Amino acid sequence: MSKQYDPRMHSAEHILNQTMVRMFNQGRSFSAHIEKKKSKCDYHFDRDLTESELIEIEKRVNEVIKNDLPVKEEFMKREDVEQLFNLGKLPDSAGEDLRIIKIGDYDACPCIGLHVHSTSEIGEFKIISSSYEDGILRLRFKIE
Ligand SMILES: [Zn+2]
Repeated sequence: MSKQYDPRMHSAEHILNQTMVRMFNQGRSFSAHIEKKKSKCDYHFDRDLTESELIEIEKRVNEVIKNDLPVKEEFMKREDVEQLFNLGKLPDSAGEDLRIIKIGDYDACPCIGLHVHSTSEIGEFKIISSSYEDGILRLRFKIE
C-alpha cells in the first residue's frame, strides 16, 4: 500500500473488499493492482463467481458510492490494531500509530494510501470480469 494509487480507484478497492467480506466471508484481497484505467484484486477463494453474484457485488458497491459516505482517518496503536485487522499488507515502516481509514460505518481498514473525501467522488463502479484458478479469484474492475 505504499504506492500513490489513484485515490478514486483505491477507495473503490476498500469498498469492494468490504463487500466481498460481507457477501462471502473469505477475507479481503491479498494482492491488488490498482491503476487509473482498470484494476484487479485477488482473493483466496474456493470457486469462480456467478454472473448474478458479480451483478450483486457491483450493485452493493455502487450503493455505498451513491450514499456519499464520508471517508475519515483515525489513529490507533499497532497492538490494538493487530487484534482487529490483518496487517499483512501494511509495511513495518507504517510505525506504531497506525492510520485506520473508515468509510462511513461500512468499512474500516488500516491503510497508508490516498483516498477520496467522500464516496460520491469515486464515480460508477463496474466489474469487467472475474476468473478463477488454483484457489485464487481475480476480479477486474474500472470506474466511470
Ligand atoms: Zn486505502
